[in-house]
Amino acid sequence: MRELPKVELHLHLEGAAPPAFVRGLSKEKHVDISGIFDARGNYRYKDFWDFLKVYEAATSVLQSPEDYRRLTLAVLEETAAHGVVYAETFLSPDFCGGRDLGAWREYLLAIQEASDEAERKMGITLRGIVTCIRHFGPEKARETAICAAETAGDWITGFGIAGDEKAGAPKDFRWAFDCAREAGLRLTAHAGEWAGPEGIRDTLAALAPERLGHGVRAIEDLALVDELAERGIVLEVCPGSNVALGVYKDFRAHPVHELDRRGVKVTISTDDPPFFHTTMTREYEELHRAFDWDEGQFRRIAKVSLEAAFCDTDTKTKIAKLLEA
Ligand SMILES: [Zn+2]
Repeated sequence: MRELPKVELHLHLEGAAPPAFVRGLSKEKHVDISGIFDARGNYRYKDFWDFLKVYEAATSVLQSPEDYRRLTLAVLEETAAHGVVYAETFLSPDFCGGRDLGAWREYLLAIQEASDEAERKMGITLRGIVTCIRHFGPEKARETAICAAETAGDWITGFGIAGDEKAGAPKDFRWAFDCAREAGLRLTAHAGEWAGPEGIRDTLAALAPERLGHGVRAIEDLALVDELAERGIVLEVCPGSNVALGVYKDFRAHPVHELDRRGVKVTISTDDPPFFHTTMTREYEELHRAFDWDEGQFRRIAKVSLEAAFCDTDTKTKIAKLLEA
């Protein structure tokens, strides 16, 4: 499972920060965030809302472009070790320079430097999706979209929205999504994780993304499942994340198999792997155990994921060869 070449489309850069890396940085900067770790040094939280707080505390030690350069390398080393040959990561100008365009450009440069270095040394290709944070509100999302539009190109290829799905309505973020779309960015939105099918319908209607982060609660409305299949909307499914946060009680209860069976384009990712005590290898192993998914199935999923990737055709051609290995 570890060796199989993989494509990962749903990965929050800060959420992938290895706990040891964050602890090291907190010592260097004399920031006390010891409360977010358990006795074994892993991240500790009670529920999704507590997780968001712990996430922001962990992120608080990432204070400079250099910190993000080191973070990107640490994350890609871990991701590549699990056979991922291509990944897309969510980046938030909120955390990278407080949505100031000049500062954002400096953070982005440092992240891209690390991405280039990882590609040379570890053979993993990374692209970025700028992501606004829903619970920070639509005003901040506008500023984030402007940062995204100004840096859209070969490396920043997409725009999205993450955060607390219960805060505000998708239509509040229409301006941000339109701005990103006009800049040529491809679109994805977190929906259907905490909110049910209505949240997915509202998101599709207001923001018209081609991919959904999670989207798994579509299963509660089979007409919606058919619609997703017909329209070819791609789901960035993160089963381990959903189980860790209690959306489903275990892998067996997770709808990913049924969504796939009903013709929805599903892909597999880790979301915030150390927070959910997971890796791409573990996701594959659990899916194999729960649904008997085999190598053929995983190779098919990797192809669907690459087709749904936001990178250019040359990059896709290069990655397609790696997937055949
Ligand atoms: Zn996510």
